[in-house]
Amino acid sequence: MTDTDDFTQPIYRDDDADERDITNKTVAVLGYGSQGHAHAQNLDDSGVDVVVGLRKSSASWDAAEADGLDVATPVEAAEQADVVSMLVPDTVQPSVYADIEDAIQPGDTLQFAHGFNIHYGQIDPKPGVDVTMIAPKSPGHLVRRNYEAGEGTPALLAVHRDETGEAKSEALAYAQAIGCARAGVLETTFQEETESDLFGEQAVLCGGVTSLIKAGYETLVENGYSPEMAYFECMNEMKLIVDLMYEGGLGEMWDSVSDTAEYGGLVEGDEVVDEHVRENMQETLDRVQNGEFATRWIAENQAGRPSFNQRHHAERNHEIEDVGERLRGLFAWAEQETEREPEKTE
Ligand code: NAD
Ligand code: MG
Ligand code: MG
Ligand code: MG
Ligand code: MG
Repeated sequence: MTDTDDFTQPIYRDDDADERDITNKTVAVLGYGSQGHAHAQNLDDSGVDVVVGLRKSSASWDAAEADGLDVATPVEAAEQADVVSMLVPDTVQPSVYADIEDAIQPGDTLQFAHGFNIHYGQIDPKPGVDVTMIAPKSPGHLVRRNYEAGEGTPALLAVHRDETGEAKSEALAYAQAIGCARAGVLETTFQEETESDLFGEQAVLCGGVTSLIKAGYETLVENGYSPEMAYFECMNEMKLIVDLMYEGGLGEMWDSVSDTAEYGGLVEGDEVVDEHVRENMQETLDRVQNGEFATRWIAENQAGRPSFNQRHHAERNHEIEDVGERLRGLFAWAEQETEREPEKTE
């Protein structure tokens, strides 16, 4: 365990895990998308007995077999398994769970990579089953790429239900086997993981940053600046700035830009993201905490995703996408830097 003097909580590392807590088990990885392909391949390379669970019609079936893995239907995979890792999309997990419930036995483990369905009561696992979470804090292709490079991806660990007394040691060994304990495994709860993950992706990472980029781009273009200029300023440079913060914190970024940029950024940043934006963020968090967001998202799926589809298409059709695509065509090397996720084929 890391020196707890340095952190507010313990962070588990390779030394804290015993690989035998997972190498003596069979793991069913349900789904072969972003997280599924990475967990399955990393577990397999770490000497864990893995079976991938997919529908017969899934195009991922051949891909998983081509990667050297055993593949079966979700029910067959769950029947063989001691640990069932639920890595199908959050919206289909309740129906997949209903299909495999009879195949899971007391003493088995149902494991998640995100707490949504447990926290908001969409899955209520049957008695006698351990319920855990290992949630890598990164897209799946990096979980795989880091593992292959001998590096790791930080992850969160949570135990919702411990019927066997072994839930935590098993989850930690799973985290080690997919490479996460090389980086660090933080213990949390399903509630904390779910609410902080939803808030982060809505307010800051996915929602916040895209809205900031679009608002900046539109402000420049509406004032007569060229779309190409606006794209470079508001979108292309974003990566360079974020890379500096990722490497060395806010300070490294401020040290790397000009004093003019530092002064202007420090003064005007809080004018743009002002008290009103913080109040909006608080309301976003309130909707996550009181279940309003979850209820709306579940209803949206039941209705066939009308609002999701409309917003999805509007976003793809924003002018910045067209300008960006043409400009990125000028530097083909950008393609190779950003390794693509495997296609989400069904
Ligand atoms: P995904 O959409 O990339 O892949 C899901 C896979 O599930 C598909 O490739 C398909 O093979 C399979 N699938 C779909 N419907 C199925 C069904 N009915 N039966 C069997 N298989 C089916 O999913 P993902 O993004 O890897 O998400 C999996 C879990 O990991 C979610 O709980 C998500 O919240 C969590 N998570 C994702 C990320 C990420 O970066 N993508 C990060 C952390 C946690
Ligand atoms: Mg079993
Ligand atoms: Mg178990
Ligand atoms: Mg998320
Ligand atoms: Mg500048």
